[in-house]
Amino acid sequence: MGENVVIIGSGQAGLQTAVSLRQLECAGAITLVGREPHLPYQRPPLSKQILTGEWEPARCLLRHAEFYAEHDLRLLRDRMATQLNPAHRHVLLDDGTTLDYDALVICTGARPNRLRFPGAELEGVCYLRTLDEAQALAAQLQPGAALTIVGGGFIGMEVAASARSRQCRVNIIESQPRVMQRSVLEPVSNFLQARHEQRGVAFHLQECLSAAHGDRRVESVSLDDGRRIATDLLLVAVGVRPDLEWLEGSGIECGRGVHVDTHGRTSIDGIYAAGDVAETLHPLLPGRQVLESVQNAVSQGKAAAASIAGRPQPYTEVPWFWSEQYHYRFQMAGLPRPDDELVSLDTGQPDSLCLLSVGGERLHAVQCINSPQDYMAGRRLIGLAKPLALDRLDRPGARLKELL
Ligand SMILES: Cc1cc2nc3c(=O)[nH]c(=O)nc-3n(C[C@H](O)[C@H](O)[C@H](O)COP(=O)(O)OP(=O)(O)OC[C@H]3O[C@@H](n4cnc5c(N)ncnc54)[C@H](O)[C@@H]3O)c2cc1C
Repeated sequence: MGENVVIIGSGQAGLQTAVSLRQLECAGAITLVGREPHLPYQRPPLSKQILTGEWEPARCLLRHAEFYAEHDLRLLRDRMATQLNPAHRHVLLDDGTTLDYDALVICTGARPNRLRFPGAELEGVCYLRTLDEAQALAAQLQPGAALTIVGGGFIGMEVAASARSRQCRVNIIESQPRVMQRSVLEPVSNFLQARHEQRGVAFHLQECLSAAHGDRRVESVSLDDGRRIATDLLLVAVGVRPDLEWLEGSGIECGRGVHVDTHGRTSIDGIYAAGDVAETLHPLLPGRQVLESVQNAVSQGKAAAASIAGRPQPYTEVPWFWSEQYHYRFQMAGLPRPDDELVSLDTGQPDSLCLLSVGGERLHAVQCINSPQDYMAGRRLIGLAKPLALDRLDRPGARLKELL
C-alpha cells in the first residue's frame, strides 16, 4: 500500500483518486497539487448553469471546504508540477520545492487547443475550461450581445444554448460538414442543430475563421470565404489536448495521452494516471482511447486508487457521457465503429431520439435524446456484450429493455 501518495491535478479524477484511497482505508499521506486557486470543482456546469446564471460558482465544488481536513488530505492550490523524476521518485513544483512519493497519480486533465489567427489577442476572444473563464464569459453574456463560437462540438453547442437563454445573438463556425461530428451519429447532429436553429442560432458549416478584427476589442470576425460577422465576443472551442508538457524527459510512455492499462498503471512502476490526461486500454473499446468525460475520470480515479491500495479492480465500465442543450438531454454510451449499422428506434416519445450502432450483432454504442430508459437499457446491453435479437424490436411499442 502506498505510504505517501502524491496526486498532480486536483480536478475530477485527482479528487476521486484521493477520496477512493481513503474509502479503501489507505492511511498514508495524500497530497493533491492543483494549478488553480479554487477548491476542486466539477466542469460540466461551466458551459451550462454557470453561464445561464442558474448556479452560484460555489455549487460547482466537488466537496465542501472542511472535507479536506476531515479526511486528512493535503491540498496545495495555485501550485503546478513542472517536472517528474521517476528515478528519484519526486516531482518538482513551480515554487522550487520537490515532493517525494511512493505512488504518484497523474491527473492533469487537458487544456483547450489554441487557435492562431490575426486578432487572437484582442479583448473579447476567450476559451472555456476553468471556473474563472466561465465566470468571465457569463458576465459578458448580456441580452443582445453577439457571441461567435468557433467549434460546433459539445462545448460550443452547450454555450450556444446557454447564451440564447440569456438573449444573446449566436453564430457558430464549424469546419466540418456537421456539428459534433467527432463524437455523435449524424441524426444526433441534425436533430440538435435544427433545435438550435429554431431558437435563432446561425450555423456556418464547412467554414473556418480567418481573423478577428477590432481596435482593442473584437468587433467582427471574418471567414475563409471573406464574409464578416459582427460580434462582441469570440469563443474558441476547438477541442482539448492532454496536459503532458510537464512530463517531458520523464521517460513515461505517452501517445496522445499518458498510456495506462485498465488498472490505471503507466509504463513506470508506482506511477498511475486517470482522467482526460490518460490514454487507456478498455475491454469494450478498440485500441487506446482518450475519453474526456466525468464518468471516465471517476472510474479511472477509482481504478488507480484500488491499484495503489493493493486491491486491484480493473476499469471495465461501459464509457458514457451526457450533454444538455436547452431542455434536450443527450446521453451516449460506448463508441460507434466505422462499419457499424445504424438502427433508429421509435422511442414512443415526441421530440426524442434513440440510435443504436450495431456491428456483428453486438451493440457498440447507444445515443439518445430525451429517452433515458432506452439509454439505460442500451448501456447495459453494451456491457453484456451478447448478440442482439434486433428483430424482436420490429413491432410498434417495442422497447429496448426487452432485449436485456
Ligand atoms: C465546459 C465543460 C463542460 C463539460 N461538460 C461535460 C458534460 O456535460 N459531461 C461530461 O461527462 N463531461 C463534461 N466535461 C468534461 C469533464 O469535465 C472532464 O472530462 C473532466 O473534468 C476530466 O477530469 P480530469 O480530472 O481528468 O481533468 P480536469 O477536471 O481538467 O482537472 C485537471 C486539473 O489539473 C490541473 N493541472 C494541469 N496541469 C497541472 C500541473 N502541471 N500541475 C498541477 N495541476 C495541474 C488543471 O488546472 C486542472 O485543475 C466538460 C468539460 C468542460 C470544460
